Amino acid sequence: MRWHCHLSLRRCVSVLAATVLFWAGTFAAAQNTRATPSYRRFKQQLDAVPAIDTHDHLFPFDRLPCIEETNRGRGVNLAGLWHDSYYRRFNPLAPWKAGVVFDEWWKAAKHDFKDARATSFYRYQLPAFQDLYGVDFDSVTDEQARELDRRIFENYKDQRWLYHVVTERANIELMFNDPYWARYAFTTSYPWEVLVFNVTPLTRGFHASQFTQPLDSPYEFAKKHGLFVDSFDDYLKVLEHMFLEAKDHGAVCLKTTLAYQRTLSFDNVSKERAERAFGRRQAALTKAEIKAFEDFIMWRLCELSAKYELPFQIHTGDARIQGSNPMLLVDLIEANSKTKFILFHGGYPWVGETGAIAMKYPANVWVDSCWLPTISYTMAKRAFHEWLEVMPSNKIMWGADCNHAEGIYGATEFTRRCLAEVLAERVDRGDLREADAERIGRQILRENALELFPQLRPRLWKHTGKRLQPP
Ligand SMILES: [Zn+2]
Repeated sequence: MRWHCHLSLRRCVSVLAATVLFWAGTFAAAQNTRATPSYRRFKQQLDAVPAIDTHDHLFPFDRLPCIEETNRGRGVNLAGLWHDSYYRRFNPLAPWKAGVVFDEWWKAAKHDFKDARATSFYRYQLPAFQDLYGVDFDSVTDEQARELDRRIFENYKDQRWLYHVVTERANIELMFNDPYWARYAFTTSYPWEVLVFNVTPLTRGFHASQFTQPLDSPYEFAKKHGLFVDSFDDYLKVLEHMFLEAKDHGAVCLKTTLAYQRTLSFDNVSKERAERAFGRRQAALTKAEIKAFEDFIMWRLCELSAKYELPFQIHTGDARIQGSNPMLLVDLIEANSKTKFILFHGGYPWVGETGAIAMKYPANVWVDSCWLPTISYTMAKRAFHEWLEVMPSNKIMWGADCNHAEGIYGATEFTRRCLAEVLAERVDRGDLREADAERIGRQILRENALELFPQLRPRLWKHTGKRLQPP
């Protein structure tokens, strides 16, 4: 052949080798991205990125919800790790009875996993058992399970375990924490923790009787700060006071989970209409009056979010699935152009819609993939692929959204895997240069959060080489 004589034998061999490698790579990619050299490269790089986790729910150590009463005393066990996880959303699990021995629980519980094996809500915890304990939970034997349970209990005797797993194994440098157990205590428990101001209950504040938890009540907050709440105007002043207090204590953003309670459709209601509900008990109000009050407060919170420079994290998608489509927020987003909106969970299952909103409002919308790989690994992959096509790469963040060390480790590992797969696939098919892919991975895991929350930079500690230790 003519081209043959222009090439030396050595070039011929290298061209042939490259061709074989290319096809092998393509074939492997079609089969399993995680078996490709590019995946392994990206995964290694992502593992080395000290992550900024923009969403978690890590309780104070002595109040972790995974703590059980065991025959060895109060502590964290295997049952606690599963019960206090997303696994329980739709999968069965034998209850833990206070004080029983492990074998008694396990003989019932071990059969509960059989229909859950493929679900992400089961699988996201597996990397923790594999990497932190060397146990393959899919095929765990009775003896291994008993030993695993014992080691978990031993680890949690010392808070250092949590410190080690979060900051060293999961390689998280800073973690936003949404303290839904004490929203207006405005306190933190861990040196890596970033305070989030959860504003969910404030929308329901038409009457003090709405609040059963003192640390969730704007009325208790007012009392503590010597403020009176006799009128709607007083109430609105208390809200501003809370914004100042939250900021004083280091809060960097707002968070709402209203999607668990109601539709995300918020009308632009007049103050007069909202005021009609104020000072009246829920039983005396119609549904429409309550909605009008909530809608008004939500718009007010968006204004205050801009005024106090606290970007607004909004739970979108799966909670209630009726009325949680992020598209319902579009009018609110458009009218509040100075408010920075962060759409949570990719709006699952509306990840495409979430991308479209970010594309349409590039100046004030960010997306956060927190929880998404844990809900559906495959949907998260699709979301990262699509989002990188429809928005600038500095718009995407991530968070583990869990309650204990093992959950946080598993969710973090799931995110790093998912991202590594997406980047490897794009590079292998020639749609992204290696160096750009590397940068994107670092942006999503870390840099984008620091760009949106530059006040966190002085809190970075990993570059000093020190380790965080419990007090
Ligand atoms: Zn959450």
